[in-house]
Amino acid sequence: MNTSTLIAPPALVRRAEQQDTKAIQALDSAHYLHPFTDHGDLATRGARVITRADNIYIWDSEGAKILDAMSGLWCVNAGYGRKELADAGYQQTMTLPFYNSFFQTTNVPAVQLATKLAQLAPEVRGRKFEHVFFSSSGSESNDTNVRMVRRYWDLLGQPQRKVIISRQNAYHGSTMAGASLGGMSGMHAQGDLPIPDIVHIGQPHFFENAQPGESQADFGLRAARWLEEKILSIGADKVAAFIAEPVQGAGGVIIPPATYWPEIQRIVDKHGILLISDEVICAFGRLGHWFAYEKFGIRPDLVTFAKGVTSGYIPLGGVMVGDRVAKVLIEKGGEFNHGYTYSGHPVACAVALANLELMEREKLVERVRDDTGPYLAERFEELRGHPLVGAAETCGFVAGLVLVKNKAKRQVFDESLAVGMRCRAHCFRNGLIMRAVGDRMIIAPPLVMTREQIDEMMDLIQRCLDATLEELR
Ligand code: PLP
Repeated sequence: MNTSTLIAPPALVRRAEQQDTKAIQALDSAHYLHPFTDHGDLATRGARVITRADNIYIWDSEGAKILDAMSGLWCVNAGYGRKELADAGYQQTMTLPFYNSFFQTTNVPAVQLATKLAQLAPEVRGRKFEHVFFSSSGSESNDTNVRMVRRYWDLLGQPQRKVIISRQNAYHGSTMAGASLGGMSGMHAQGDLPIPDIVHIGQPHFFENAQPGESQADFGLRAARWLEEKILSIGADKVAAFIAEPVQGAGGVIIPPATYWPEIQRIVDKHGILLISDEVICAFGRLGHWFAYEKFGIRPDLVTFAKGVTSGYIPLGGVMVGDRVAKVLIEKGGEFNHGYTYSGHPVACAVALANLELMEREKLVERVRDDTGPYLAERFEELRGHPLVGAAETCGFVAGLVLVKNKAKRQVFDESLAVGMRCRAHCFRNGLIMRAVGDRMIIAPPLVMTREQIDEMMDLIQRCLDATLEELR
């Protein structure tokens, strides 16, 4: 992409880069409480100050150019610097910057976006998604799910169905309900979580949880059956829903074996419980489909989305509500006492519409499915030969590497060595953003990434793996 598409005029960009990094860092640590950050550490080291971005690259205040293989935080699907999105936001701001959707009012971009999403969400085995509830984030959307699920069962005269089953190491957001639905022990340890009626089962993590000699297919079935065991131990009549990410993202890009999802679907169908597919990461082309449930043949009742719907240019999230739930809420429910000031925010919806149109025009979803996704898989396959790499997997445009001490024996490193963090530091030094989850190195590149840019990224990854290996010797 040429730099003429940058939103910030070059003069402004230069000014930002001329700022004194140390001064910004000092103000940052004095006043800004960051999400998921150790502030003691931040005060000593100083935050990296990101000043601008274009296409798949970001720049810091020292002028370093960095290839952003994480799309910001799994969200900048259309890449940085897309003028169309800025224009859509500007025009809507000048026309109607805000009005709420409470008490029988609406606005045109919210209606258009809901209609567009209903068109994009494929029908799956008789399940239609014709209704959308808007929020401003994935966390708020999952809170909405908890309220909708409870309301649904109450309206059906089964108020005892309260328990929502989730998975260890899942990430469903940071609000009380989101963090409770999530299975991150570090989050649960702070603030007495989970809240009541949320329980967790194991994750389908083949590398960590498979037994010696167990096939992927057998392990997938066994992991899915943990759900049935949990349902039976609670009592099926008390279970309201099962929530899961089609591919676990923040937990380390855990791609389930092919047998996993069909078995999960069989189990939720058998016990009549609702299925929530949390696609905050997986939707909008990330796995080569508009929605990931299509890829896995899942028939969810509720689908959480956020991030990629606006390519992260402005906060927006929501829930696609399948007809099973929508019918009950609409026909039996009366007023649903739930909503956010910014539900259906006109500017956010206008930017989302522009983003979805851009993605359609540039065929980004098809590109990931048929061209760049398979190419990324091919290139990742080569990494399996690296002495540090115990497993290398991709699914569309998410990918993960497991760093191991001994490949043949599947022996992992001692946690105290923090090998993942060492590798991440080498990535930083070499101009690459890759995320470390323990000793798993993960990526989720912008969907605009070309084959040539995949090659560029793979060279950087190779260099960082070599540097990590060298450091460990
Ligand atoms: N659900 C999933 C699967 C996520 O990955 C995330 C964020 O990464 C969330 C929910 C929470 O979204 P947000 O940070 O927008 O609240």
